[in-house]
Amino acid sequence: MVTAIHRPTWVSVDLDAAAHNLQEIREWTKAKKVYAVLKADGYGLGAIPLAKAFQETASADALIVSNLDEALELRQADLTLPIWVLGAWDYSDLKLFIDHDIVITIPSLAWLQNLPDFEGTLKVSLAIDTGMTRIGFDKADEISAAKKIIDKNPQLDLFSVYTHFATADEAGEKSKAYFEEQLRRWQELTINQGFDPSLFSMANSATCIWHHDDPRISFAAIRPGQLISGVNVSNGELKMPPNLHLERIFSVCSEIADVRFVKKDQSLSYGASERMPEDGYVATLPFGYNDGWLRRMQKSSVIINGKRMPIIGRITMDQTMVKLDRKYPIGTRVTLIGKDGGEQITVEEVANYSHTIVDEIQTTLAPRIKRIYT
Ligand code: PLP
Repeated sequence: MVTAIHRPTWVSVDLDAAAHNLQEIREWTKAKKVYAVLKADGYGLGAIPLAKAFQETASADALIVSNLDEALELRQADLTLPIWVLGAWDYSDLKLFIDHDIVITIPSLAWLQNLPDFEGTLKVSLAIDTGMTRIGFDKADEISAAKKIIDKNPQLDLFSVYTHFATADEAGEKSKAYFEEQLRRWQELTINQGFDPSLFSMANSATCIWHHDDPRISFAAIRPGQLISGVNVSNGELKMPPNLHLERIFSVCSEIADVRFVKKDQSLSYGASERMPEDGYVATLPFGYNDGWLRRMQKSSVIINGKRMPIIGRITMDQTMVKLDRKYPIGTRVTLIGKDGGEQITVEEVANYSHTIVDEIQTTLAPRIKRIYT
């Protein structure tokens, strides 16, 4: 995979704003520890620069990733914070987890019972399945058995006991009831098990934002991911609290690569699906669906010179056409996500237009788009 460093299309990431957001959410939730979730290369923005910023500013107490390779990448970049890999993992890489001091997740009692002998200390997190039905323990007696095994084995060091809410970012009554059901399951499964409550980790971004004052939820160690970007993680379904001061940390920009005069009725792009509605100028922009700007974004807009201009014709793999209100010079700035003058396109708007969630838009910004850090 080549990053197109010579192409004028870029994602700009404000690392100070990212660190600020973590500090803000720490205060908002009164969390003792903040574990920054940086899986999928920091939700597409760059795990290493974000992790370094968090380590330098002491805004995170640990880093969370989805797989061992993401963890090793951070260790190789000299990140010394604790790193925890979510998700089930087989035994073949145990030595790598131990040698690089990486926390592994225990997905089931069988995993723990069949753990082979090893040398050194293995840090472990215990997944409690309260309703995601993805990973973890869903029976109190099995949790109790797992705790006994961990307590008896000095080579196992318990890092976290955690659960993950499925509907914390949704507004409907059904979603709220499901959240309550997960909370009830958490209490049922963890009560009287004798865990150190400082190891409990229950809050993803949405739980941090909208359930921060629920005394039934532990904020001992929070796990915000998407929230680091300072966006509304419910896609606007729930209102952001006005006194939670988060900053948007990234923008996506490009530049006009070519401009041409196009006559009324001339078709544009593959499939000749759209015609020019009147005589005018069309700009060609150097990004396309292989950058994450999917074909369903046709007819959405970009900002040029502080004004919205429509994408016209099908988005192609590497190039996209925009109908201009007048002729602009080649090299003129184009904003896909972000602000220009009085106009703004948010990632929430893009997600709603694409009928998806902000996480999907952000994590599918292609690696070939260069990232610029400020
Ligand atoms: N914790 C777990 C177990 C997750 O799987 C995720 C992400 O999917 C997170 C925390 C972070 O979630 P969010 O990005 O909604 O904060």
